[in-house]
Amino acid sequence: MLRVAVVGSGPSGVYTAQALVQQTAVPGVRVHVLDRLPCPYGLVRYGVAPDHEKIKSLQGSLRAVLEDERVSFLGDVEVGARGLTPAALLELYHAVVYCVGAARDRRLGVPGEELRGCFSATEFVSWYSAHPDSARDAFALDGPAAVVVGAGNVAVDVTRLLVRRAAELAPTDVPQGALEALAASGVRHVHMVARRGPGQAKFTTKELRELGALPETRVLVDPAELALDPAYGDPAALPAVNRRNLEVVRGWAADGGAPAPRDIRLRFFLRPVEILGADGRVTAVRFERTEPDGEGGVRGTGRYEEIAAGLVLRAVGYRGRALPGLPFDPARGTVPHEEGRVLRDGAVSPGEYVAGWIKRGPTGVIGTNRHCAKETVEALLADAPALARRRVAADPGARLRELGHTPVPWTGWLAIERAEAALGRSLGRERVKIPDWEGLRAAAREA
Ligand code: NAP
Repeated sequence: MLRVAVVGSGPSGVYTAQALVQQTAVPGVRVHVLDRLPCPYGLVRYGVAPDHEKIKSLQGSLRAVLEDERVSFLGDVEVGARGLTPAALLELYHAVVYCVGAARDRRLGVPGEELRGCFSATEFVSWYSAHPDSARDAFALDGPAAVVVGAGNVAVDVTRLLVRRAAELAPTDVPQGALEALAASGVRHVHMVARRGPGQAKFTTKELRELGALPETRVLVDPAELALDPAYGDPAALPAVNRRNLEVVRGWAADGGAPAPRDIRLRFFLRPVEILGADGRVTAVRFERTEPDGEGGVRGTGRYEEIAAGLVLRAVGYRGRALPGLPFDPARGTVPHEEGRVLRDGAVSPGEYVAGWIKRGPTGVIGTNRHCAKETVEALLADAPALARRRVAADPGARLRELGHTPVPWTGWLAIERAEAALGRSLGRERVKIPDWEGLRAAAREA
């Protein structure tokens, strides 16, 4: 028998477990999927926006993997805590696959980022997703204006959520505290600001289009900013997704739509140089006008503009976090590897693997992780004869408990699901997420 630990139960972790149990080359594989949280699904639960029901429904297929008899979910187990180091894990399992994602957010590196009212988009996403590390009252949305820096899908998500009305979110599982804060939100104007043009933006067209379909909201684009885009005159040279993005944005520039209670302004060729504040709170963002540098990037022009805002969200990408005891490349924010095999000082470390964002960086859609996990599992299976000879503890679960971990089993997660359904009923809603550690652990104990 080959016992494998998968660290992280987000898409890359679950796809790794799936690839391990669906193959026939190495029979007798057993997989423990460990997660720091009592709940599975990683960013599908704590990152995908609540109004993206279709993507959320992926939980159904991830669930089927975690319910496979050869797979066990062990929630509330933090690798790196209570002596559970990577070295200790290797004494428990023949192989360990780290699928820990990219948990940190990137910073702008400009003065004023520490001001109250300036957050990473990840903090905002965690808050409306009921992540238990997020403070329940983290966001008071006084308004009237917010700036979102970045032009990726996360920027689009948080922009959309900032203008959604509570009635649209009530049928989702958004936590009650966030729903009430969004209902009371005074935010009327959201400026989503990109340092390059729509022809180079990272968002995908389907997500971009959704901004134009939001009730009581219009999208405004300044045609003069579009004309700065090097692809403006010749969109045919762009990759298909960028060309479609440019077309959508051009449509909005030509027809701003009727005045509406809320608006989203898409701004281009502006890079943040300072977050301005008064009395420790954000009041505006100072941007420098940029222009194409002819090589796909931009350069500053020495002309500046300020956009007033009481809330600033930086949505400029994620970064991997170093896990003590595991090699880490700080420049790339990933674990060095060869086809998924972890490299220590350039040499393969027997039994240690990576998949997902910690392997390749925070890019791609959820499905990208399936291919990524498959490559890693193929490497692991090729190594299986040597891995099976490694001496490991007879009962890893018992050893985890000895170290002071109290894993939440799958039945504990099912109990959390029931508690969230009951919470929803008590609030006259469907299912409502439990937003705190105590609540999640108490619900899991009901199993
Ligand atoms: P991303 O796609 O890498 O976008 C980051 C954005 O931040 C880019 O527009 C980038 O501009 C900008 N940026 C970076 N540094 C900056 C700086 N110092 N100043 C100003 N702008 C800066 O990252 P993401 O939005 O966090 O998304 C991460 C991944 O998750 C992506 O693969 C995304 O597609 C995926 N995701 C998908 C969905 C969905 O499918 N619905 C939802 C959320 C996330 P430059 O291009 O100029 O560098």
